[in-house]
Amino acid sequence: MKGSTIIVHGGAGDWPEPKQAAGLSGVRQAATRGFRLLQQGRTAMLAVEAAVMEMEDNPVFNAGRGSTLNLVGNVEADAGIMDGKTRCGAGVALLQRVKNPIRLARVVMEKTDHALLAGNSAEKLGEAFGLPKANLKLPERVQQWKQARRQLEKADHGDFSRNLKLIRIKGQSLLGDTVGALAIDRNGDLAAADSTGGVSLKLPGRIGDSPILGAGLYADNKLGAATATGVGEIAMRLVVSKSACDAMQALTAQQAASQTVRKVTRLAGRGLGIVTLDRKGRFGVAHNTPHLCWAGFTRSRGLISQMRQ
Ligand code: ASP
Repeated sequence: MKGSTIIVHGGAGDWPEPKQAAGLSGVRQAATRGFRLLQQGRTAMLAVEAAVMEMEDNPVFNAGRGSTLNLVGNVEADAGIMDGKTRCGAGVALLQRVKNPIRLARVVMEKTDHALLAGNSAEKLGEAFGLPKANLKLPERVQQWKQARRQLEKADHGDFSRNLKLIRIKGQSLLGDTVGALAIDRNGDLAAADSTGGVSLKLPGRIGDSPILGAGLYADNKLGAATATGVGEIAMRLVVSKSACDAMQALTAQQAASQTVRKVTRLAGRGLGIVTLDRKGRFGVAHNTPHLCWAGFTRSRGLISQMRQ
């Protein structure tokens, strides 16, 4: 019987000081929930889904309830899940009313022939499977959105240069608080899951990396598992999660995470974080953003969490 491990993150970006304690407590809670399931002999898929749901229900994170708002003030949430045993996976995108987008991603993976479903049609599928609905737009996020909109006239820089020029933002952190989880269970099966409201003030209809297999997440029992956070466009263009998994053929999880982030910095600049998990149950964390909020739980090391690497 192999050891169980879970690693979860609450997003790469700029975590303001007053929010850091709540973020760390949220990822610790999520890692603990997932690890308990693994200890009870449950699957890695169930553990990552439960850990992500825990964070979707925690408004400190930009996922599920608490999702950040797009340019016109609406939530458009994305999520993805992948099973390393079968290499099946799916994503959902542009959701406004599904309480736990990660559950809908699992429905798409298990009950349909598709790997990506978006918008109203995806929400209808959720209804057909009885998934709970919720208003994902919280008053705090509306306040933040109003403030960001007021700053539109002042800005000139950022990772998202063309959008930023377009919407002319300054001083507004576009990233942060997306959630993800990777696990390996007693059978050695790996799984990955993630969920996000996306980047703040994104153009309506923009879909990020989180629901895209290979970009926002990847899991393959023969390689490892990985999930990315940060500027989704970078993760998609460089297919970072698959690339980190390929690297784990020869490297440890930490070496693969560090190598992937070095490559991203060289080819695309700053704005990305990644967590990885290898076939031996070792995890890795790397980012080129100021912070990445994460927690890991293993049998030998217990529960550990950090705001930086
Ligand atoms: N990767 C997410 C996206 O681009 C955002 C994030 O991780 O903060 O939608």
